[in-house]
This record gives sequence, C-alpha cells and structure tokens, in this order.
Amino acid sequence: MAPQKDYYQTLGVAETATTDEIKKAFRRLAKQHHPDRNPGNPQAAEKFKEINEAHDALSDPDKRKKYDTLRRYGAYAGAGRSPRGPTGGSSDNFSTDFDFSDLGSFGGLGDLFSSIFGRKGAEREDQDDTVETTLAVPFRVAALGGKLPVTLAIAEVCPTCSGSGAAPGATISTCPECKGRGTVSFGQGGFAVNRPCPMCRGKGKIPSQRCGTCQGSGEVRIEKQLLITVPPGTEDGTKVRLRGQGAKGKGDLLVEFKVEPDTFFRRDGLDVICVVPINVVQAALGTKIKVRTLDGRRVVLRIPPGTQPGKRFRIAGQGIEKNGRRGDQLVEVRVDIPEKLSPEEENALKSFAEKKGLKY
Ligand SMILES: [Zn+2]
Ligand SMILES: [Zn+2]
Repeated sequence: MAPQKDYYQTLGVAETATTDEIKKAFRRLAKQHHPDRNPGNPQAAEKFKEINEAHDALSDPDKRKKYDTLRRYGAYAGAGRSPRGPTGGSSDNFSTDFDFSDLGSFGGLGDLFSSIFGRKGAEREDQDDTVETTLAVPFRVAALGGKLPVTLAIAEVCPTCSGSGAAPGATISTCPECKGRGTVSFGQGGFAVNRPCPMCRGKGKIPSQRCGTCQGSGEVRIEKQLLITVPPGTEDGTKVRLRGQGAKGKGDLLVEFKVEPDTFFRRDGLDVICVVPINVVQAALGTKIKVRTLDGRRVVLRIPPGTQPGKRFRIAGQGIEKNGRRGDQLVEVRVDIPEKLSPEEENALKSFAEKKGLKY
C-alpha cells in the first residue's frame, strides 16, 4: 500500500479534534506559512501546500470519515504509529463505518483516494461561481407574481487586470511552484492528486507586481442590482436558477424565495383563505359585506340570515392562478359577540331570550 500523509499530524491536532479545532489550527498554520509571508522559501510553500491538503481532507465530515477509514486501514505513513492509529480502532469499527460497496468501482484504495480527494477540484471551482441568496417575497407578490429588486455583492473579473492579477506593465513569469501547470499534486505512489496551486492560485503564472485593484486575486466584488421575476403561485422555499448571473459572469445565481405571511390571507394550495368578522345581528339577520380580494379589489359578499360562526363562503376564481388553473377565495366568518352591554341593552337581550324560550 502506498503511504499517505498523516493529516492530523500536519495540522497538529488530535484525531478527536472538532471541526472547529481543525479550522483554527488550519488558520493559524496557513497564516504562518503563507507564501506571501515567506517569499522565496520553498519549504514554507511546501508546508503551506500540505496544510491546505490536510484541511481539505479533514474539514469536510464525509471526506474525513473516509480518510479516517483509510488511515486506520494503514493507507498512510503514520510516523511511529500503528497502522490502525493510536486509538487502536479495531477492524470491527472499520467494517461498521465504511461501506465496502464504495470500493467496488475503484481499482484499489489508491484510486479510491484520488477519487475522493482529487476530482473535487473542478466541481468546486464551478460551485464557487454559483451565488446563492434568499429573497423575502411578500405574500401577494408570491401569489400573483411580480418583480423584486435585489442587491448582491458578486465577484466579477477585475476590470484593471482582466483577471490576470498582474499590475499594468508587470512582467509575467511562469510559477516556480507548479511550473506553469496551475495545479500541484500531492501524495506519493498511488496517490497522485491534483489541486489548484496555492502560490499562483491556479493561474500558472506569477506577475512581477500584483494588480492594485484586486490585490492579485483577479477578481473584485461589486454590488449588482438585479430585478428578480417571481412567478405567480410561488411557494415558500421555491428555488430558481438564473444562468450566468452568478460570479464572474459565468456562474449561476440561485435564488430561494421565502414567502412572507400575510396578515389577512393565508394559502391552501391554489385557494386563499381569509377571516372576516361580522356581528351577531348580521349573522342572525343576514347582511352584505365587502371583502378584499388578492388583487386589491373589494367584492360584495352576501351573508344569509342564520349564518353560523366559522361558515366559509367561496368567491370563485379569486384564488391563485398557476399553470392555467385558478383557485378560489374562501371567506370564513367570525361572529363577534358584544363584550359589554348597557343595562338597557341587557334587558332587550333578556326579553329577546324570553320570547325565544332561551335559557340564560
Ligand atoms: Zn486586478
Ligand atoms: Zn503555481
């Protein structure tokens, strides 16, 4: 088995370290060994690379679990440690926390390692250009559809250097770290894994002087104003993908709609429900009330005599329209009972009860 590095040792943390502890250790070491702080120091560059690898493998719980399994299995060169690691993880553990079916499609642990840690590079770069945001949508805009403005800080290609990271007039030389490839590989033997070069940030070239606008990163954050179209009948949690509206003009913008509750309406499928109060006399004698609809109009609704509390009336076609179907508006009546009565009113109510033979 080809040896692999001990990432825990690289970061100087215990095997039981929490993700937080790993992050802290990584930040401290990355600061210390960053190429910018150690110009012309190949050892620091190498160390920096190793720290990045270790952090990459241990900061993601899934990757870490797989790495732990491989590590226990002996697929690394632990300095003076037993192949199963100092905790003495038993082969029983091994079989319970690792799914052997994963191994089926790989030529061996070496290939498995590459496929866990190697192929992520390209995917992650694509994902980096995707910008995700949530957008609060008022209830009525979600129901009827509309457009909402949004301001986002989005990375764009630096206008000064067009993304090269070089100051105007700077000379460009091939990156000594990756020899112009833009990627570096780590590991030995069966573990040939590529990742973006930390020294040139994957560009393969290093300028004699960095661009002052973007500090060499090749990108700048700008505030971008967008008008987002909210389709009619949008439900809470719906996501839309806007191609090419993400970072650097090539990533996507992923917008999640958070539909805000309304004080009057609530939604049930394509129907909208509202509660309207009437008084006890209106309920008993019948009446006409005006009810607000989704589109802001007021329609007249006839309440028949003897209407009971909680009775629902349907206003056809005043619900949410989606995919050619249209829901209704359901009006639920609440019957308000007078809270205070004058002695005169009380007597009137008592004589009413006596005529009706009602107990009180
Ligand atoms: Zn620039
Ligand atoms: Zn490089």
